Amino acid sequence: MIIVPESAIDGLVTQDDCIAAVEKVFASMAKRTARNFPVVREAIGHADALYGFKSGFDRESLALGLKAGGFWPGNAGKGLTNHQSTVFLFDADTGRCRAVVGGNLLTALRTAAASAISIRHLAREDARVIGMIGAGHQSAFQLRAALGQRTFERVLAWNLHPGMFGRLESVAREHGVPFEAVDLDRLGAEADVIVTITSSFDPILKASQVRPGTHLACMGTDTKGKQEVEAALLAAATVFTDEVAQSVSIGEAQHAVAGGLLQEADIVEIGAVIAGDHPGRTSAAEITLFDGTGVGLQDLAVASAAVDLAVAKGLAVEVDF
Ligand code: NAD
Repeated sequence: MIIVPESAIDGLVTQDDCIAAVEKVFASMAKRTARNFPVVREAIGHADALYGFKSGFDRESLALGLKAGGFWPGNAGKGLTNHQSTVFLFDADTGRCRAVVGGNLLTALRTAAASAISIRHLAREDARVIGMIGAGHQSAFQLRAALGQRTFERVLAWNLHPGMFGRLESVAREHGVPFEAVDLDRLGAEADVIVTITSSFDPILKASQVRPGTHLACMGTDTKGKQEVEAALLAAATVFTDEVAQSVSIGEAQHAVAGGLLQEADIVEIGAVIAGDHPGRTSAAEITLFDGTGVGLQDLAVASAAVDLAVAKGLAVEVDF
């Protein structure tokens, strides 16, 4: 069995490796050759923790396994990240455990990969201004991956809690792109691409604040009850997602579908666009919205890439199991 510890992931797997792996598995999902299994998520009644696992199987790459972990709110006081996850990969032919891979950094990279893929396939080619809503841990990964997808000339950002823009400012600086904190009216009026990555339970951005031709990647809503944009915005947009079942139950689309503003049948899996079975954006004025809910197959795809790279670079730790 191969072990790729959390400490080995940084420097081993790049954002581009993750984009390539996730793009491939999204296409397999749309072709129905890869399938996510039902998600388990439970409050364990200890340490205020939420624990669960996401699993699936990709018949094309033979990635089989699960990501286990969750949220331990008291970890910060122990010098640990609150979100903890580990990926277990199994040999699809024998069921033997093939690898254990640290999943914390990989989660941020695979989530940023999903929104970057949506920008790559759905944003207008002439998109020049990116607007970030949210400035927490994930936001820096989101911005870094997004900046590689178009020739962005400006970064605009809004956050509920002031004083959190340092991460985004330094990513913008890394890329030599000017950064400005703005209000939501300006962000909506000037951004060609908007990424939302917050823990909000109420709509932040209104439909009237978004102009025609915008692409939105809504990435923060991954639980029942969370919401980042007004449901009317989904009614005005062409809605894409990683997996429709998650989009309508725990994703941004849950509210528009429950309110009768959006039909489940009208939500398009981004994998269909990647595979060439859906045209994606069809006009410069269309609003496209990607509802990124986060699926287990993303985790398996990036963990498999990490194992392959660790083996190729001689960094894999092998143990008898
Ligand atoms: P974080 O705690 O580091 O940051 C939270 C962000 O949300 C901050 O910008 C904060 O100001 C903002 N925020 C908090 N409460 C808010 C409210 N009521 N209204 C508006 N903004 C609010 O969290 P993070 O690690 O950056 O994660 C952000 C979100 O992304 C979380 O909801 C997380 O569950 C989600 N997430 C989604 C995926 C996915 O695959 N879709 C993967 C990882 C994380």
